[in-house]
Amino acid sequence: MKPLSQKTAFLTDSVIRRMTRLAMDCGAVNLSQGFPDFDPPACVTERLAEIAAPGPHQYTPTWGAKNYRQALADKVGRCMGIDLDPDRNVLATVGSTEAMMAALMALTNPGDKLVLFSPYFENYYSQAVFTSIEPVFVPLEPPAFTFDPAKLEKAFADPKTKAMLLCNPSNPSGRVFTKEELTFIADIAKKYDVLVITDEVYEHIVFAPHEHTYIAALPGMWERTVCCSSLSKTYSVTGWRLGYIVACERLLNECKKVHDFLTVCAPSPLQEAIIPGLRLGDDYYRDFGEKYTRKRDILAKGLEEIGFSFTMPEGTYFMMVDISDFQRGMTDIEFCEELTKKVGVAMVPGSTFFKEPVGHLARVHFSKKDETLYEAIDRLSKIREKM
Ligand code: GLN
Repeated sequence: MKPLSQKTAFLTDSVIRRMTRLAMDCGAVNLSQGFPDFDPPACVTERLAEIAAPGPHQYTPTWGAKNYRQALADKVGRCMGIDLDPDRNVLATVGSTEAMMAALMALTNPGDKLVLFSPYFENYYSQAVFTSIEPVFVPLEPPAFTFDPAKLEKAFADPKTKAMLLCNPSNPSGRVFTKEELTFIADIAKKYDVLVITDEVYEHIVFAPHEHTYIAALPGMWERTVCCSSLSKTYSVTGWRLGYIVACERLLNECKKVHDFLTVCAPSPLQEAIIPGLRLGDDYYRDFGEKYTRKRDILAKGLEEIGFSFTMPEGTYFMMVDISDFQRGMTDIEFCEELTKKVGVAMVPGSTFFKEPVGHLARVHFSKKDETLYEAIDRLSKIREKM
């Protein structure tokens, strides 16, 4: 038989999502794949119930229903401080995963290079492979997860570098890049004619005093930034697969062509049902941030009391935890499997996210009800007896 794709041959399935399956098999508290166990805002689920019979049930226009794109343009434009035209600047996608895939397929050529920070969200590597582009990694050094500007500039200066894929707030490091860091990235993007594709899905999970800056809103960046985000995290609807791209017309038009043939359109009833969420006022985002600050603090205190050290995240709902005191010769992958099976708490092995050989970290998330977090802490407190 003829060989199958060389692209999939050297990829595995997602470790993050594999850990979720293991957690389900073992009845473990799942702090691996990041998604909430609490409800979306009531206005959104009520609207979903209301439209269950009347619909919409058929395709929306490919770019997204007009009223959905208008609500996206209003909400995202307000946050970014940019006046967005729903027809020219907004594309509704199936999750931010599709948004990034469409952007990479539309804007790069095979053989181009894509700059990524390491640690990086697992999907990016596979997405680079699928588009035949070469990922180039610049380290974010733990525990502070800052980058060396000279190393980043060297990567940008390579004439083959077409784009950087920038996750901010950053999964899994929890970094929220400062305006100064982003201005540096913007300056070298302009200097070396590099595009910036963003993943800003954690834009509303930022802990004081840190603040999220949209790189697209920095001077001269609107023309070279493809802003990808989603509603999954902000409205606790990860299964709805509602993402979007916001960009200038020139860049968005290319992304639209890929999206048109890749997924046709995002689910129509869900586009309609999320609109009341997009219309929520500033107090929703303030309360949402405060809720996550409390959850971060619950998990941090619990982990500290058990004896784990970790980097306190500035944003996102992830923490990178040092597991070296508990590994007893196991790799991080073995450790996370044992932990899931014997202690009943699932984490993601840190090596999933690093280009470099880093084997002493695991990623946990705190997008869970307070009671779920307390249950996880209670189970983890028995780690020394059970493993
Ligand atoms: N972004 C979340 C995580 O990193 C969910 C990943 C996914 O499965 N899409 O865990």
